[in-house]
Amino acid sequence: MDDAEKVFTQIPEFLEYLGTGCAEAIANAATPDKLDLSPKFPFLCSKHYADLIKKASEPEALLREILPTRDELANVPGFVDDPVGDLPAGKADCVIQKYDRRALIVSTATCGARCRFCFRKNYPFQSNPDVAKQVSDWLDTHSDIWEVILSGGDPLTLSPGKFRDLVEAIAMHGSVTTLRIHTRLPVMRPDLVMQHFELLRELSARFECVLVSHVDHPDELDEESQVVFGQLKFSGWTLLNQSVLLKGVNDNAKTLESLSRRLFMQGVLPYYLHQLDHANGVAHFEASDETALSLIAEIRKRLPGYLVPKLVREIAGEKSKTPIF
Ligand code: SF4
Repeated sequence: MDDAEKVFTQIPEFLEYLGTGCAEAIANAATPDKLDLSPKFPFLCSKHYADLIKKASEPEALLREILPTRDELANVPGFVDDPVGDLPAGKADCVIQKYDRRALIVSTATCGARCRFCFRKNYPFQSNPDVAKQVSDWLDTHSDIWEVILSGGDPLTLSPGKFRDLVEAIAMHGSVTTLRIHTRLPVMRPDLVMQHFELLRELSARFECVLVSHVDHPDELDEESQVVFGQLKFSGWTLLNQSVLLKGVNDNAKTLESLSRRLFMQGVLPYYLHQLDHANGVAHFEASDETALSLIAEIRKRLPGYLVPKLVREIAGEKSKTPIF
């Protein structure tokens, strides 16, 4: 196995790899009695992300994103299995349509690593669906769709063959002018993004191409993400980022300011700062709206307007994201 392909599925092996240099950060992120060694939402972390933790200025922030704790077992009123209303908006096994003339494809259940705050951690993913065929069949009868959003899981974890089949199936439908990919792979598995590069370059000749990265902390950005974003930008992709406001990870103005600036240095514009989706098992990550608003007010003073993300929340059944003022 190539070193870049290494993933950790066992927490003790992962912690051993991080080594004594991260001992304090590990203790800060989860004391031994808080660690959950066999979580319901299984642990997964790429070697790349483990290496980011090792060299991070705030390693405990990145660790909190990835390390399962017993806090996830808490039953908190208002936190549910389908917080953003994916299931009622399902149109075919892998097609979700919440918004007018735009459709979202749940292209795979696989991710480069598993974020503990994941909004789809309880989603009933189908096993081995023929996504390209399902999407093509659905688009055949929905010629009003102009934007297709590839989501998951992480769409760029698809094998090059399956990913090509999927985008070629979409490309056959002339009404679709914009292809948007939501991914966390530039910071979780940049090697997997690179394996799609020839196709990603070709796509910008057929679609308006938008990549929305999910980066939550400036320490997640390194030279490898810079290469990925640089090549995409050079190939004509529009690059945006959305983050989730996460208690103990990025809920301070200094981190958010640094995140916006580092994204911009890599060619990416901050787009949304999401309030946490209320999925079961994530309540310990919640920052209040009051905190969120004061953080936005503070970074507005420190940054030009184009680097201040919009503060939003997703409300199940609403026809757009809801701005928080
Ligand atoms: S990459 Fe996205 S879908 Fe995958 S675990 Fe993280 S938040 Fe969930």
